[in-house]
Amino acid sequence: MDNRTEQLADGVWRVEVGFYVNTFAVANDGRGDADGLTIVDTGLAHHGSRLVRSIRLLGLDPRATTEVLLTHWHRDHAGSAAKLARSSARPRVAAGRADLAVVRGQARARDTLTAGGTGARLAARIGLPAPAEPVPDAVPLDDGQRLATSGIEVVSTPGHTPGHCAFLLPDRGVLLAGDAVFNVWRLARGSRLACADVAARDATIHALAGRDFDVLALAHGPAVTHAAKDRLARLAGA
Ligand SMILES: [Zn+2]
Repeated sequence: MDNRTEQLADGVWRVEVGFYVNTFAVANDGRGDADGLTIVDTGLAHHGSRLVRSIRLLGLDPRATTEVLLTHWHRDHAGSAAKLARSSARPRVAAGRADLAVVRGQARARDTLTAGGTGARLAARIGLPAPAEPVPDAVPLDDGQRLATSGIEVVSTPGHTPGHCAFLLPDRGVLLAGDAVFNVWRLARGSRLACADVAARDATIHALAGRDFDVLALAHGPAVTHAAKDRLARLAGA
């Protein structure tokens, strides 16, 4: 097996497609690809091939991908979404409603950065962060929505971006939380510089700490597999 791939629970794998960049593969039936696969985040534009190869190394057929869920529009998450959407699997690409216009290429990225983050506004002024290749037919996700294919529950987690979403797999005890928190040096709030709304970011961490999960997996850094809920609650209270 590719040593950059790690199983987090039944039918849930973390696929590290680049340096400190994670994507996730979810078996819709909790085991294999018979009922299709859901991919959460896609890495940068050049990470798509590694993601597909890693799925194959898991013994799964990437052509079985039914859905690509994006935690948010940033290019290290949505970077390969357009390419996957064009693949023979023709998966449905979905993102949080408030990020959708950027994912579809209908709005400029900077329009989502005006909610309160000074650093984010500054970054927008100099043209960063640039959006990924657009996915014109991406569909919206809303808080509390339960995806019929995988049983994933959409948890709206605004802050890092306005439409940021986390994905909860209640029966597998896994919370895929994107950039709601980071685990690069240690479990920590994201930098204010990369955050559209700092108050919303903090409220989101507090709300996530109230959910039930055993494994907390982020887009950047290793998954938290030990005392994950306690550690997130400590961070929320800090
Ligand atoms: Zn991000």
